[in-house]
Amino acid sequence: MHRLLFTLLILISSITSAEERLEFTIHKLESNVEGPTVLVVGGIQGDEPGGFHAASLLVTHYRVTKGNIWVVPNLNFESIIERSRGVNGDMNRKFAHVLENDPDFQAVVRIKELIRNPDVDFVFNMHDGSGFYREEHSDWLHSPLRWGQSIIIDQESLDVERYPNVGELSRQTVAKINERLLDEEHTYHVKNTKTRDGDTEMAKTLTFFAINNGKAAVGLEASKTLSTSERAYYHLNALEHYFETLGVEFERSFELEPAVVQQAIDDNIQIAFYQNKLLLDIAKARSHIGYVPLQKNAELEFKPSNPLIAVTRKGKGYKVNYGNRSVTYLQPQFFDYDHSLDTITMEIDGVERDVHVGSVIEVQDNFQVNPQTDDYRVNVIGWTKQGVDNEAWQQIRKGSIRERFSIDEDGELFRVEVYNNDKFSGMILIRFPENVADSEPARQAPQALQQARLETLASLNGR
Ligand SMILES: [Zn+2]
Repeated sequence: MHRLLFTLLILISSITSAEERLEFTIHKLESNVEGPTVLVVGGIQGDEPGGFHAASLLVTHYRVTKGNIWVVPNLNFESIIERSRGVNGDMNRKFAHVLENDPDFQAVVRIKELIRNPDVDFVFNMHDGSGFYREEHSDWLHSPLRWGQSIIIDQESLDVERYPNVGELSRQTVAKINERLLDEEHTYHVKNTKTRDGDTEMAKTLTFFAINNGKAAVGLEASKTLSTSERAYYHLNALEHYFETLGVEFERSFELEPAVVQQAIDDNIQIAFYQNKLLLDIAKARSHIGYVPLQKNAELEFKPSNPLIAVTRKGKGYKVNYGNRSVTYLQPQFFDYDHSLDTITMEIDGVERDVHVGSVIEVQDNFQVNPQTDDYRVNVIGWTKQGVDNEAWQQIRKGSIRERFSIDEDGELFRVEVYNNDKFSGMILIRFPENVADSEPARQAPQALQQARLETLASLNGR
């Protein structure tokens, strides 16, 4: 079994502005090899994280080698951030008719246009549904009235040019998913809502709009009873089986297991500001990060590492959300920016190397920053030494930075800021892993482990 390999950081291509209304984003994974184009839509309802995280993982951890995968992972972005089914009502009932003064109007119009795009062959609408759908009533949680663990079709076969046989395709997919169940209870079924026969509620949905506009479409439901990573696991299984059947080929950079999916969801929360002058890794951020050096008299400019990250103005700073999670609050300090610095020389555990601003550097024991000229002033946030103002050329050891200045809850990530006169030139993040055993448990003898823990304790007490 190979180690978890993550593509480190795939930055979303568009630069986002915090001032705008939260609009959904479109991510086109294209192969340049002839094949079908599928459209995966996540987050039509904001409180169904299995669906939108699965869609987001396609963007950050998949590569297409045949055909195309278009992804909208955050259709109802504002509701995702608010952890609400729909802050403006249920968006998935607005596809037959939507009022022009409805706050969701623009989003509905834009996604309809994308669905109708002549290139799109197949549409997936991602959901987390209640309980477990069963054809026969078993108990209140397992019944025909439930939606979880099912694939929703509006009718057995569609009046569309490509892939009209959605019933058959979906039963094949269900059979494949059921080969990889985590538990018998999670068994998938196809649920046919027979929308055209008078289901007025389902007639207002995105999939019904799609099938009436010449596109094959299904709804994918994982159960809200399961954890987010288990839901995303099932969603990705379902999508992959459809992709294979339709002839869309792809590569995935992690192993499809719930624990690994969980890690892929949790570890990927970074924001690069101003062309990567500073990068914040906020996967385990404290609830408040102070004195973030943002650019004076300029609009906030940032690239999140995945499309479910939102940075929105609140008071004098910015709140950061990731899917349904509130991550942190950034309290800015404004500076003019200096653009003269791209890399800076550092000595890391005794080895000299050039480090790009906006990097995260792992340090086992010590580092120092050795700027090329005296123009640069270095400030290691949380480290002080009497009589030292410019912290360049100072050896900084693990344990010598006051822990409360770390940007993460674990006390591992520290900021090194570089200034040119009073202008901000860039930031580097230093990560002191708590102890070596975290990364390579097999090579650590128990004694060494114990020693490492004692040293950690000693350094903690010394602060
Ligand atoms: Zn839903």
